[in-house]
Amino acid sequence: MSTFRYDELTWPEMRAAIARQPVVLLPFGTVEDHGPHLPISTDNVILEAICVETARRADGAALLMPLVSYGLDEHHMDFPGTISVDMHTLLDYVASVAISVARHGFTHVLIVNGHGSNAPIADLAARRTVLATGIVCGAMSPNAAIDPTLAEPTFSQMRRSGPGGVAHACEYETALMLHLRPDLVQMDKAVREIGQLQIEYFNWDHPAPSILSWQDWWSRMSESGVCGDPTVATAEFGRALFETTVANFVRFVHAFRTLPLRPRRDPHAPPSG
Ligand SMILES: [Zn+2]
Repeated sequence: MSTFRYDELTWPEMRAAIARQPVVLLPFGTVEDHGPHLPISTDNVILEAICVETARRADGAALLMPLVSYGLDEHHMDFPGTISVDMHTLLDYVASVAISVARHGFTHVLIVNGHGSNAPIADLAARRTVLATGIVCGAMSPNAAIDPTLAEPTFSQMRRSGPGGVAHACEYETALMLHLRPDLVQMDKAVREIGQLQIEYFNWDHPAPSILSWQDWWSRMSESGVCGDPTVATAEFGRALFETTVANFVRFVHAFRTLPLRPRRDPHAPPSG
């Protein structure tokens, strides 16, 4: 396969790609404040890098779409530069992209989310795609600040921050940026701020996040925009996280590709005989 990028194919090449049935990866990020030390592109930079390297190493099993670069972010609008898209518009938009892919004959589409608040939208867009087209479409997050699954065991073994240290513009995201784009990180401006509440039944940190789903206005919980401890982040941790995540993600893609497309049945019909 000459390229793993969806939009670098010609239409005759696309016809051949559809016959091979790779998993189509649809990255879904955002543009929002990440403290005084990281750029507002942080989620997109991390998501794009993980997806590119995963698709490159997946050996033809993945085809990577261009990033949906804006997300559900109204709660961050108090911070300069954040871009917010209305939640209904966003659901329609992401589902429309996935459904377009299905209409061309691809059977496996994976919405790859890189921003915590996009998760419910990604989930609903995948469900809508399944109901509208019958293909296999799911949603997942490879970003350990959202779900550490793909970053294990590195995440738990190498993490230096205590409870509350990983949530947003945190040890995880800063480490990844120190590895991927050190030119965009201003460590002299990094601050530790555990803005999130640490009370029974409400905590965001891993590996045991809260059972309660609640998202407050960001400016009510954080002065700097940081929720976590970026001051202990290192490029070494970032490189280890990246390598572990990509290796696990490649395996995830191969497993997702084996999910069967089963025929629907109609149990309304009386039993024959
Ligand atoms: Zn982020």
